[in-house]
Amino acid sequence: MAQFDVSLVLPDTLYHGSTMGAIQGLRIKPINKEFWKDAKDFGAGFYTTIDLFQATTWARKPVVAMERLNKGTDPSAMVRSLPKDQIPVVAVYDCNSNLYTDNIILHDYRGESRAWAQFILSHRHSSTVDNCLCLNEFGWIHPHIACGLMADNDTGQIIEDFRSQGRDIHNRDDLEWFWTQIIRTREGRRLNGLELGDQIAFSAKL
Ligand SMILES: [Zn+2]
Repeated sequence: MAQFDVSLVLPDTLYHGSTMGAIQGLRIKPINKEFWKDAKDFGAGFYTTIDLFQATTWARKPVVAMERLNKGTDPSAMVRSLPKDQIPVVAVYDCNSNLYTDNIILHDYRGESRAWAQFILSHRHSSTVDNCLCLNEFGWIHPHIACGLMADNDTGQIIEDFRSQGRDIHNRDDLEWFWTQIIRTREGRRLNGLELGDQIAFSAKL
């Protein structure tokens, strides 16, 4: 395997979609395990993006779910009717790695690849906030920062189908099947490259 001598520069600004109620906590301690969830694309962590529009989409997820349930209702009226702490917001972060001296393990998944799909499958299928298969499956400890494309589609449902169809995370054909599922919209449209969206996940207290 090729060895890369890498000089990595993180973006100056990162965005995180959330709710008004979480803002105070996000200001004080953004990388906070208390709020992490099991079975995310790159494992449990604090998810950011370089794309303001993407962060807005994350923040509006609960509103979009409400819109689906209440078809025909004016979306802005729906947002106004929310309790203040549930109003969607985007937190904007200055990212300044010069302030740190830590040794940071970072995985950067450039574009679509089997390694990218496998990393997501492993974490979507078998990770919790406290555990993942990185060490056992890949021989490395879970990266402190993981960057790359997002899995699109309804990944929770895809993983359910993966299990119910008796698929195996070690089987190459099953990995290919998973890959073909996560690069489509819910409506089945093939997404190309950056259409999948960008994410940077922080999984350690830095
Ligand atoms: Zn992991």
